[in-house]
Amino acid sequence: MRDLNLSQGVEYSHLILEKYLEKNDIVIDATVGNGNDTLFLAELVGENGKVYGFDIQQKAIKNTEKKLIENNMASRVDLFQNGHENLKEYVKNNNISAILFNLGYLPGSDKKIITKPKTTIPAIKDGLDLLIKGGIVVLVIYPGHEGGKKEKEKILEYASDLDRKKFNVLHYYYLNQQNKPPEVIVIRKR
Ligand code: SAM
Repeated sequence: MRDLNLSQGVEYSHLILEKYLEKNDIVIDATVGNGNDTLFLAELVGENGKVYGFDIQQKAIKNTEKKLIENNMASRVDLFQNGHENLKEYVKNNNISAILFNLGYLPGSDKKIITKPKTTIPAIKDGLDLLIKGGIVVLVIYPGHEGGKKEKEKILEYASDLDRKKFNVLHYYYLNQQNKPPEVIVIRKR
């Protein structure tokens, strides 16, 4: 028997995306941060795919740009220093396969600059409009930090109310761990 090493939040989000995405897909990284997820997505969609990336912090955009250039992936990614709540202004495509929101604060930076429900929820809503049939929004939520608990509650409220005829909603989280580990929500457009 092999050891089933149950994944934590980010790892689980990557497992889902890896299983689902194909070369040439068009995706959005709604919070590029240090660019780890952007690079991962850029690899999955291949040289003819496209990643649109958003972050409000210049540092995040610079870090991500650097990572992409070092890995020869810059040409398949369009980066915008803007809030994901404005994504419809920049992404005119409505054939998006997946949108990743890795929420919270930028690791190694100002922990006061965090994602907030009043912008996260409209961004999810707009993102769902842009998805193709079968497309997914993947959210990694951090209830352990200040602001993260409230954001989780608001997202759960919103996602639980989505019309079941239009969307499937999955919630992945540990029941018996300490320190409020990250959780993942996947919304699939039917
Ligand atoms: N995906 C990143 C990575 O792989 O390194 C980690 C993202 S980090 C957990 C969350 C990011 O969300 C921060 O860089 C923060 O600046 C960004 N952020 C906060 N509010 C935002 C908004 N309204 N729109 C886009 N990004 C936002």
